[in-house]
Amino acid sequence: MAIATESTSLATYLECPSCGRQYNIHQQQTYATCCNQPLVTRYHYHLTKEILHHRKHTLWRYVELLPVFNKSNIVSLGEGFTPLLNLFTLSRRTGVNVLLKDESMNPTGSFKARGISVAVSKAKELGVTHVIMPTAGNAGGALSAYCAKAGIKATVIMPAHTPSTLKEECNMFGAELILVNGLLDDCAKLAKQLVEKSGGFDMSTLKEPYRLEGKKTIGYEIAEQLNWRLPDVIIYPTGGGTGLIGMWKAFLEMQRLGWIGMKLPRMVIIQTKNCAPMIQLFENGTVTENIVTKPSSAYGLVVPKPFAKDLMLDVLQQSKGTALAVTEEEIDACMHEVALAEGLLLSPEGSATYMGLKKLVEQKWIKENEEVLLFNTCSWYKYR
Ligand SMILES: *Cc1c(COP(=O)(O)O)cnc(C)c1O
Ligand SMILES: [Zn+2]
Repeated sequence: MAIATESTSLATYLECPSCGRQYNIHQQQTYATCCNQPLVTRYHYHLTKEILHHRKHTLWRYVELLPVFNKSNIVSLGEGFTPLLNLFTLSRRTGVNVLLKDESMNPTGSFKARGISVAVSKAKELGVTHVIMPTAGNAGGALSAYCAKAGIKATVIMPAHTPSTLKEECNMFGAELILVNGLLDDCAKLAKQLVEKSGGFDMSTLKEPYRLEGKKTIGYEIAEQLNWRLPDVIIYPTGGGTGLIGMWKAFLEMQRLGWIGMKLPRMVIIQTKNCAPMIQLFENGTVTENIVTKPSSAYGLVVPKPFAKDLMLDVLQQSKGTALAVTEEEIDACMHEVALAEGLLLSPEGSATYMGLKKLVEQKWIKENEEVLLFNTCSWYKYR
């Protein structure tokens, strides 16, 4: 196999993660209907990491490992390659080495920009003219922005109680915004009806294959920024799970590419007690049929029925990880603590990861001097 020197995608096909059935990557796809699972993109894994040396600092530096074949279809606003910060004061305070991936630096102020940049680029490549998405807020803003740039019509469906900045930005970018009295699962129901009625393309989390590919670039970046090693533990504020599944996919891909060694992080899911289906699943092996959930200050975590719950559980099991929930009060208190200690305003979702760290250190699940990566997934300023 030739080593690719041109900047061209090495993507080969899409695959059902349960039964291995292959789906054509050159046609529009949704999810693996054979087993009701998300589709995963497979590649030729022959590439030297030296190609990265002179690449620009966006997630498109990993273009061979992304699904867009013609570079003219790339829709980019400068997403990715966000700072990886050392939190020295919190490290002293907790006795572990605390790192933070600050995703608030992304276009539209959240890491949703990663998945949406890749998904909209691929939609453009496949000739899609109208996309529809239910969202807790941030994905809708990102979708609106990237669709504005791509010249694609966007319909965004979000809960009416979402902060006004998140609605305003959709309007500013010219998207069609529909508000629903309910939570994300209610928005998802309406989205499904609209997809059937209008023929627009469904961009729900993990119901199309390529947001996952955009999100996986977080995993590549963490390795590259740590000079091709990974932290002991990664604490991820989890809603639909794209980032968690994506990072794990990136780690396995980098192992196949020979870019990193065998040791992988233990992956931790953080949720809010107001909406914790993954904690239920991890602890009890099932989620109660009509799970009761409430809104949270951590909007991005309120996903009552995550489609990819099985894949998330796989990541926890394979990585010897864990899952835990924090309260609204704990989220608020940690936000203040981190602001004073580190000069950083974390989003509620980001703050939840620090609370998770404190609990896991107290439980001695995280050992002294281990290296732990937290996430700030969104700008604090967005929820004003
Ligand atoms: C969407 C979102 C999350 C959850 O990310 P998933 O990868 O979907 O689990 C966390 N934080 C914020 C701010 C979000 O917008
Ligand atoms: Zn299958």
